Amino acid sequence: MLRDFFRGFIKVHILHHASQGPIYGLEMAAELRGHGYDVSPGTLYPTLHALERQGLLCSERRLEGGRWRTYYTATPAGLETLAAIRPKLRELVEEVLRDS
Ligand SMILES: [Zn+2]
Repeated sequence: MLRDFFRGFIKVHILHHASQGPIYGLEMAAELRGHGYDVSPGTLYPTLHALERQGLLCSERRLEGGRWRTYYTATPAGLETLAAIRPKLRELVEEVLRDS
């Protein structure tokens, strides 16, 4: 049940960070852990792939220190989605926190 809500929060986090610059999976997992979300690779990678399939992220493989890493960046559609989410998120947060 809670997972269901968190899934949405996690997607917004990913989109937000990918809008600020390229991110890779392990980096994003650590970032989410810092926010208190324990996201397994089995959840994170399918989420990244789904966001890419939906055209919100694009990926690029880079060779770094002898290993390939897939970096994700928000696409123009991803940025647009984030811009649409932001005012809704602000309103929701303000209301929910005010009434708590
Ligand atoms: Zn974050």
